[in-house]
Amino acid sequence: MTIVKRFIAGAVCPRCGEMDKLKAWTEDDIQYRECVACDFTDEMSLTAPPEVAEPATRVNQTQADPRDEIQVVNLMDPKAK
Ligand SMILES: [Zn+2]
Repeated sequence: MTIVKRFIAGAVCPRCGEMDKLKAWTEDDIQYRECVACDFTDEMSLTAPPEVAEPATRVNQTQADPRDEIQVVNLMDPKAK
């Protein structure tokens, strides 16, 4: 398996503040970042944490979301007079 390290365009290193010095790659569901200007390295798990799973209780699901009724969008054409 070939690991491709790519520069992140526009990314600023949180340690040295240099732009376009960060390389990123993914290995075993971990996203790594590395700065070529200093020794900064960072890793972040790409797998979702288990507590994100929604509980099975759906008691309030029959109640309509009030935001659905505030969808008043002004679509009037400013040129139409
Ligand atoms: Zn750096």
